[in-house]
Amino acid sequence: MSVSLARRSFLRGGRALSAERKPPWTDESFIEACVRCGDCIDACPENVLFKGDGGFPQIRFQDEGCTFCQECVRVCDEPVFDLAREAFPWRARIRDNCLALANIHCQSCQDVCEPSAIRFSPSLGHVPMPTVALDDCTGCGACVAVCPQDAIELSAPEVKETNHD
Ligand code: SF4
Ligand code: SF4
Ligand code: SF4
Repeated sequence: MSVSLARRSFLRGGRALSAERKPPWTDESFIEACVRCGDCIDACPENVLFKGDGGFPQIRFQDEGCTFCQECVRVCDEPVFDLAREAFPWRARIRDNCLALANIHCQSCQDVCEPSAIRFSPSLGHVPMPTVALDDCTGCGACVAVCPQDAIELSAPEVKETNHD
């Protein structure tokens, strides 16, 4: 597949598609520099990098989240990764099919969230319900991997929280 076809495919569907698939510390231009050697995929100890469209590495939080170990960055000889960038542009969002919202006890996402971005608030006559503190979420995907309902999506916040009032 040519690079131009791969690029179109990567951008197809707009922000959501590319946002869900980009390796950490990359932007959409990484397909210009990536030679599709697969070294980052082999190096990832969490197996969150996969060969995706056009043979380019893509991230998928199937069984684990990203631990930010930087092994992918270390093994890459090309100018693909830039640690000056934010690792991931997306943040976790809990969807309506969350078990806790249906009054079924579940806090699996909280248990794996390293920066404690998912918090459960007590609620009278209801099991505790989760909220995500967007400022603390790193977009690591650990909660996505563990959720039994597939109730967590990662999406780029529309507006950066800059409320100073
Ligand atoms: S930082 Fe580590 S865990 Fe995350 S994608 Fe790279 S190699 Fe995998
Ligand atoms: S792991 Fe999933 S179902 Fe359970 S509380 Fe979290 S978002 Fe809801
Ligand atoms: S993506 Fe990572 S940091 Fe964000 S809420 Fe989920 S587990 Fe916590």
